[in-house]
Amino acid sequence: MTSIAFIGLGNMGGPMAANLVKAGHTVTGFDLSPASCDQAKNDGVSIAGSTLDAVRDAEIVVTMLPAGKHVLSVWADILPAVKEGALLIDCSTIDVESARKVHTMAREQERNLTSLDAPVSGGVGGAKGATLTFMAGGAKQAFDRAEPILSKMGKKVVHCGEAGAGQAAKICNNMILGISMIGVSEAFVLAEKLGLSHQALFDVASTSSGQCWSLTTYCPVPGPVPTSPANNDYKPGFAAALMLKDLKLAQEAALASGASTPLGAEAAQLYALFANAGHDGDDFSGIVNFLRGQKG
Ligand code: NAD
Repeated sequence: MTSIAFIGLGNMGGPMAANLVKAGHTVTGFDLSPASCDQAKNDGVSIAGSTLDAVRDAEIVVTMLPAGKHVLSVWADILPAVKEGALLIDCSTIDVESARKVHTMAREQERNLTSLDAPVSGGVGGAKGATLTFMAGGAKQAFDRAEPILSKMGKKVVHCGEAGAGQAAKICNNMILGISMIGVSEAFVLAEKLGLSHQALFDVASTSSGQCWSLTTYCPVPGPVPTSPANNDYKPGFAAALMLKDLKLAQEAALASGASTPLGAEAAQLYALFANAGHDGDDFSGIVNFLRGQKG
């Protein structure tokens, strides 16, 4: 049994902390939102009066926060207060630069702290069902210590490399996802104009070279894949606002590193238009309806 502090008990962090409790760990949590704290308390998390109170006695600290600025500020507060030798794991999706910065801040404490960036894929369903995929960046020693804890919240834990490599893997993967969802959606919109049924395109492309996750698991039109959000009025799933966030992070990283990502840039622009048209809370596959409405 490990003593774990969990900061950020929102849609993802709440159920992740609950799974650590279920696995027999002692979990002390904190969130700025009283409603999130109340929910976590019902799930067996002890709620501390502040972030600092939550982390003071913990061997492992997990953060699950909205963006890089929140992680930078929370880590700056807690690093001087955590126990000597503590392991800090950030599971939020943030920019690579901030991820690397917090690793450096931990190292600069010179108190044997180890750290890992470990963003996730799998969404709220994966957080609840403990089926997330973790992509971790940091030293092997930190990864080996974190792995048994992360595996209580997910089904796959991958060590991607040194500091920031987890965030890099996350934004590269989601850039593929954003681009491929637009590609699949465009194909359905074109098929409609050509008089080709959704099912016929699906039957061909799902067993041909157009096959991809956006088509076969998450098909953006209703019918061919009954479990996809298209069959549930595009309720998320994975909200367009979160896809836009990840595509923007990919573009920031492309700019900073000099990588050429023209389709990633176009996908970010299209998701910005889609989200700003009032669809930020819709599932990201709803972009098919937005594309259908555009003039060719
Ligand atoms: P959320 O907004 O539901 O939860 C974030 C929580 O952090 C909130 O409850 C907020 O009150 C809390 N918080 C903010 N600042 C704080 C502070 N200083 N101290 C304590 N608590 C603070 O967001 P979420 O959906 O749980 O997402 C969390 C992270 O996971 C994000 O980085 C997101 O991009 C990533 N993510 C989300 C999903 C998803 O499907 N929701 C999937 C993969 C990754």
